[in-house]
Amino acid sequence: MRYAIISDIHANLEALEVVLADVTERKPDGVVCLGDFVGYGPDPVACVERMRGVLQAAVMGNHDLAAVETEDALAAKFNPLAYEAILWTRQQLTGAVRGFLAELPQRVRPDGLLCVHASVRDPIEEYILDVETARASFGAAEFSICLVGHTHIPTVFEEAGTSVIGEPLLPDRPLLLRPDRRYIINAGSVGQPRDGDPRAAYLWLDLGAHRATLVRLEYPIARTQEKMMTAGLPPMLAERLAYGR
Ligand code: ZN
Repeated sequence: MRYAIISDIHANLEALEVVLADVTERKPDGVVCLGDFVGYGPDPVACVERMRGVLQAAVMGNHDLAAVETEDALAAKFNPLAYEAILWTRQQLTGAVRGFLAELPQRVRPDGLLCVHASVRDPIEEYILDVETARASFGAAEFSICLVGHTHIPTVFEEAGTSVIGEPLLPDRPLLLRPDRRYIINAGSVGQPRDGDPRAAYLWLDLGAHRATLVRLEYPIARTQEKMMTAGLPPMLAERLAYGR
């Protein structure tokens, strides 16, 4: 089975369309989204509607939750720019899109893969940025391959016996998945990369070939930035798209 693993779209329709064009050409058996459909970007409704047409499975991200939960619950959790963007996002949502986001599960297991937005022990909020945090997630459930997003940094954590190592996942270096090891793979971000590479990222997972490959694609960043400025979203959020930070 071959899967396209898409994460952290963040309402960036230009990046999403480029990714979906590439995905469609490869004819996957399934498309899975690891959450954060919305937040930061200018096209929350269009991105959710576009994804609903192609998804096999999806989980909820922290921005998806923030877009639908009560307003006093979210003020404490976000920095001022993210907060401003999520307030804007909440005003854009249609009833159907709000309902879709509110009903997303926190974890799904298509084909035995464990899919969460953030981490195994805290599917909504925890950032897996180091080996110790990854180790806690390896211990929190039974799985061979767990797919996460949330940090926007493509990374692989590999458990072999009692050792866990973490490494950046690079587009020119497919990861060979060994059956005697366990993996937590971060698929990076479609709509707001933060690893210094501004190109949209997604993960191509070929279970038959035991291979996970990060795909990076250029998209018209200036178009998304223009839309963000027109919408009145914080300029800093638009600027950072050009740097991938
Ligand atoms: Zn995110």
